[in-house]
Amino acid sequence: NADTAVHRAKDRGRNNYAFYRPEQTEVIEQWVRLEPELRKALKLNQFKVYYQPQIDASTGRISGVEALIRWQHPTEGMMPPALFLPIVEEIGLMTPVGNWVLEEACKQAIRWQTAGYPEFRIAVNIDGQQILSKGFVEFVGATLKRHGLKPDLLELEIVENIVVKHADAARPVLAQLRELGVRLALDDFGTGYSSLSYLKMLPVQKVKIDQSLVRDIPSDPNDEAIARAVIALSHSLNLTVCAEGVETQEQKVFLRRENCDQLQGYLINRPIPADQLSDWLDQQAILLSDHIF
Ligand code: C2E
Ligand code: MG
Ligand code: MG
Ligand code: MG
Repeated sequence: NADTAVHRAKDRGRNNYAFYRPEQTEVIEQWVRLEPELRKALKLNQFKVYYQPQIDASTGRISGVEALIRWQHPTEGMMPPALFLPIVEEIGLMTPVGNWVLEEACKQAIRWQTAGYPEFRIAVNIDGQQILSKGFVEFVGATLKRHGLKPDLLELEIVENIVVKHADAARPVLAQLRELGVRLALDDFGTGYSSLSYLKMLPVQKVKIDQSLVRDIPSDPNDEAIARAVIALSHSLNLTVCAEGVETQEQKVFLRRENCDQLQGYLINRPIPADQLSDWLDQQAILLSDHIF
């Protein structure tokens, strides 16, 4: 796993190239090469936000879009977050970068509202560094105000281990975010530390079933059972459930049958630039009016 390799390499210091196996050396070389470029990327306006729809599983209508960062690298093309966010995090720039995404996403949400699209939520991923950064709640509040976005239309996606690892620091921040009126979603549920009891304690309104659990539906009966259990448990706690990584018709049929509330994945659409998402919304409106879903 590239992320782990980067972290491990960083832990041991950057001058020990000779001690690593070749693939680790490559990871370090990549890291050393990208770091200075990443430090300038925000200023050079090289980050882009892509948007991926989340649909209501029973009606097919859009319920939200997730904002996902990309890096338009000058020579290497569009880079996915897995290749550069670990470095951004290591060099301590996750807060400015993440806050930039949040700002962009709110701005775009208002553009869609102004263009007359039906209301849908905008979901933004929030990293541990960012959520625990000083003044984060104030920044969120000010950003909503600046763009005139209703707090209820912003959803912050957080992964469970942040909240577990930094429980004491994170708990009050989550509570303050809820007081602002923004929605909270637990991302990648079913991986890592996931303990079902946390669901009850966290002030979240939504659970996102991780794509690793969705991937092998319907071939893996265990994954089916876990997905079914997560949906049932979430519903018993009055939480909305969104399944990530929905790629096949069979997965969609299964998830709808199990009353999963929302679907997100390549079957519906890939993450795409905002203007392409607008085109997709236009087409979708026509399809839905013909009851094709
Ligand atoms: P995530 O929040 O769990 O986002 C879902 C990821 O699954 C996205 O990858 C999306 O492109 C991918 N995906 C969606 N549907 C499918 C599908 O049907 N099949 C498969 N195989 N994959 C699918 P992406 O865009 O590469 O982002 C990866 C991760 O990077 C995100 O996972 C999130 O943890 C992080 N990330 C992305 N943007 C941001 C950001 O602005 N801030 C922070 N803190 N993290 C971000
Ligand atoms: Mg997410
Ligand atoms: Mg996820
Ligand atoms: Mg993920």
